[in-house]
Amino acid sequence: MLTCADGFSFAENGDPEEVHYYKVDGVLFSGKTNFQNMMILDTERFGKLLVLDGRVQSAQNDEHIYHESLVHPALITHPNPRNVLIIGGGEGATLREALRHPSVNYVAMIDIDGEVVDNCRRMLPEWSQGAFDDQRSELFITDGKDFVANTATKFDCVIIDICDALEDGPAIELYSGKFYNDVKRLLNPGGIVVVQAMEFSNLVNKDHVFVHMSLRQIFQNVRSYAQYVPSFWCNWSFVIASDVHEPETLKCDEINRRMRLRGLDSALVHYDGDTHAHMFSLPKANRRVLDQACMETLQRNVA
Ligand code: SAM
Repeated sequence: MLTCADGFSFAENGDPEEVHYYKVDGVLFSGKTNFQNMMILDTERFGKLLVLDGRVQSAQNDEHIYHESLVHPALITHPNPRNVLIIGGGEGATLREALRHPSVNYVAMIDIDGEVVDNCRRMLPEWSQGAFDDQRSELFITDGKDFVANTATKFDCVIIDICDALEDGPAIELYSGKFYNDVKRLLNPGGIVVVQAMEFSNLVNKDHVFVHMSLRQIFQNVRSYAQYVPSFWCNWSFVIASDVHEPETLKCDEINRRMRLRGLDSALVHYDGDTHAHMFSLPKANRRVLDQACMETLQRNVA
């Protein structure tokens, strides 16, 4: 999603096919880190907005929709998540949500860009809400692909919250079968991985399909789900994968029961059993896009 603001164009990645406007009351930060362009804008509707390389990452007034949707389906599906790995997630809100689960006793967060993390911690404290200071969390400033290739630690859940797959962006090498294979190696038995998988509609779906199909080569059960995020102006998608668990089969009552047991029911604003069912119930056109991709892969494998 490319964005423009009053007087500022931050559509820096080639010719935009589509531009969204935000009414901007002020620019709180604008600079270049070693890895990406970073802006923090103050907008009328969405509050503070984090923009990296011209793409909105999250907004103060609806970041809970994105972060709860990313984190809780995986952690609620896992019966007893203890060790969690987050790749990316610079704002600290993915960390905040993972730490809500009382069984979680260690979360490693890996972000390539220390300047983004520092700026978010300082200027967007509403996102992390002290999560970086939680004794259970450990922050590593390094490339996610190197961490995953080299660590010996095992995890129950891996949450991949990196920037979109931009050709020149710092995340591009993490959109690959090799990276997902390395992630699988880090999972404890019954482990779950969830990936933020970009926009997913009948018109815009190439990146999503790539993530979905790559994970399908590696895991037994792979499901796409989606949620409209107002500040992204589209249905945002996620792919969840496991060799054991099937989050799409979890019933609403069971999700709500697990949430009560974990003390999450009043803590969350967006996610519960009904929201889970809604997110996993994809429209016909989206299902057809995935069916078509599976069919093409099958035909290629047979030929
Ligand atoms: N919600 C987001 C979205 O819509 O794209 C993702 C949010 S989060 C800010 C993305 C983070 O991924 C950034 O902090 C960025 O520094 C980090 N990142 C990008 N490439 C990375 C890599 N190779 N290893 C680890 N972190 C990476």
